[in-house]
Amino acid sequence: MPLDRERPDACPGAVDVHHAADGGLARVRVPGGTLSADRFDVVRRAALDLGDGWIELTSRANLQIRGLAPGAEHELGARLREAGLLPSRTHERMRNIIAAPLDDNQDLVDRVDRALRDVPELAGLPGRFLVTVGAAVSGLGGDIGLVDDALFLAGRDSGLRVDDPVAAVVSAARLFQELRGTAWRLSEVDSGVRRITAALGVPVAGRREPAVTPVAPGPVGDRVVAGVPLGRLDARLLAGTPVRVTPWRSLVLPAGADTTGLFTDPDSPWHGVSACTGRPGCAKSLTDVRADAARWIGTPHTGRVHWSGCARRCGRPAGDVVEFVATGDGYEEIR
Ligand code: SF4
Repeated sequence: MPLDRERPDACPGAVDVHHAADGGLARVRVPGGTLSADRFDVVRRAALDLGDGWIELTSRANLQIRGLAPGAEHELGARLREAGLLPSRTHERMRNIIAAPLDDNQDLVDRVDRALRDVPELAGLPGRFLVTVGAAVSGLGGDIGLVDDALFLAGRDSGLRVDDPVAAVVSAARLFQELRGTAWRLSEVDSGVRRITAALGVPVAGRREPAVTPVAPGPVGDRVVAGVPLGRLDARLLAGTPVRVTPWRSLVLPAGADTTGLFTDPDSPWHGVSACTGRPGCAKSLTDVRADAARWIGTPHTGRVHWSGCARRCGRPAGDVVEFVATGDGYEEIR
């Protein structure tokens, strides 16, 4: 049975901000993660002029600006619109498209984004809706995914092979919207994958395995992958630099970009360490969890480590991870 969602999802948009403890929180959708230098400068300047001076990278390769004064979202929206970063007010929050960040796929992402925005009823898709493009991100649980000609549904290969990937995503999105009732994700819809698969064609026998292949910090050809400590970028950095945002709190930059404040060494102590918002942004937090995590950096560790400001453990990465959870009297370590 579909989950009985009693309320619409509360994912923030660029103008429909979330009112956090430290002010307005705006999420700027960046389908495919690619921003020209001009567009990234618009986001940087907005974070400096209107927000708290920092840009947060999300696990869906979107960007967040926080600390907005009441009403500042209108100025932010105007700036983003002028820069082409808010092309649709009606379809804004559903524009979540994660692409494999080292692949040449931004043109496909842009065509998918435009095609989804061209369908009026798809404005009703929830803010949790997610499309993935590419093998490296196919295991991130997209409602719809493309890996070459394979159509993924709810994070798994449906067995459908498609000639026109853009049309296939739009058709699957339409069907999800028709079937979903109050569900936020395709995985929550009773027999949703089976019904959409049956409506779209005949599956082949073999299946591709979903994968998650994070990009490691360091040089890659004529580019460099730069990790952003705790996913929080000082907005004064990277002026005049084109970026591609990854879903792993890092940026793909042109080789030679100034990476001050970032890390490009996979052995960096920041690599694999994440933290929730904590104080002052989250009213539930028992501590300034990012500051605590930053003080801990340098302590030898291997694998993923996640810090949380309370027992809700927001943002905990999937898979093996060591957690530090604030208790009000220090941290509990959970393995
Ligand atoms: S884990 Fe707790 S403190 Fe951290 S963001 Fe979630 S609710 Fe806030």
